[in-house]
Amino acid sequence: MATTSGDTTDRVTPYAVLGELTHRCPLRCPYCTNPLLLDRAGEELTTNEWKDVMDQSVQMGVLHFHFSGGEPAVRKDLDDLVEHAAKIGLYTNLITSGVLLDEARIHRLSALGLDHVQISFQDSDPEIGDWVAGRKGAHEKKKRVAGWVREAGLPLTVNAVMHRHNLHHLKDIIQLAVDLDADRIEVAQVQYYAWALRNRAAFLPTREQLDESVRIVNAERERLKGRLSFDFVVPDYYAQRPKSCMGGWGRQFLNITPSGTVLPCHAAEIIPNVNFENIRDKALELIWRDSQGFNEFRGTSWMREPCKSCDRREIDWGGCRCQAYALTNDASAADPTCAFSEHRSVLEEPLQEANKPAPKFVYRRYGN
Ligand code: SF4
Ligand code: SF4
Repeated sequence: MATTSGDTTDRVTPYAVLGELTHRCPLRCPYCTNPLLLDRAGEELTTNEWKDVMDQSVQMGVLHFHFSGGEPAVRKDLDDLVEHAAKIGLYTNLITSGVLLDEARIHRLSALGLDHVQISFQDSDPEIGDWVAGRKGAHEKKKRVAGWVREAGLPLTVNAVMHRHNLHHLKDIIQLAVDLDADRIEVAQVQYYAWALRNRAAFLPTREQLDESVRIVNAERERLKGRLSFDFVVPDYYAQRPKSCMGGWGRQFLNITPSGTVLPCHAAEIIPNVNFENIRDKALELIWRDSQGFNEFRGTSWMREPCKSCDRREIDWGGCRCQAYALTNDASAADPTCAFSEHRSVLEEPLQEANKPAPKFVYRRYGN
């Protein structure tokens, strides 16, 4: 991949595309980071439009294609799309809740060339799992699906979204991944965008919970070396420096919404006055390379202090633009999860809420 020194005329090549086939989803997770306004089924890209997106991606040098949503298995043409992606040489990953899949379809997807499956789990405890997902029986179904995935010979990643209601089960969740014969676990804290921001006080863990989770992950990573690989994302509200969101705006990834809007990350549409173009109107490469949306925060030339002269500016790229906007109303500010940010104090109130009794969830619902 070419590098960028911050001049937006420098060229970079994306290596992965996240295709959100649909926003439809049978679960109601209160931590859902899909936008408040979901795309309707009638607006979704057609089978041929998605195939064209994949063809254009390969021409640009993209290697990975993630089928995501919503729940991508809602789409009956998922099988057809996986087959096409495999034929043109893309490495394919299905990001799914699992609840709509059955054994025959998993074996079919595997035979058609699917390379990898990622299933989200809400807890190790079925009752808490179903409560968070907002669907009875979801947890047990996910476990069955994970078994079929491994029987079909597909590598499995367990995605565990952690928060104040399940961090005390972290060790059991890691063991669940081992019992399911997963290759990898993503221990990811809730990210507070879109719908999840509404439920922040219900999810944000305490500092003590976080410290304990770091200790557990370090010990389990050592214990399971060579058996299970770990990705660990800590809640950035407690961090001193922000995460390198998406590896930098418009540097490695692009995201395509169900209705074809091309984004540098899936939350980017919350930022006003940035023009994100649609694959129905323009070629993918032109959008990636030349559009205002992708060039607005690409590289470092948009930065002001403290990022502008910071020696981490090409490491974390100023953190997350969406988080900067969500918390400060200014998308070009340093991410307030950085200790150098002038807006750092906006985190004080939510961090205090983490020590109070959790409010009830506001569940997500497609069509609501
Ligand atoms: S409701 Fe849950 S499973 Fe469905 S898209 Fe949102 S986070 Fe994913
Ligand atoms: S000042 Fe900006 S570049 Fe430096 S660590 Fe903070 S967010 Fe990153």
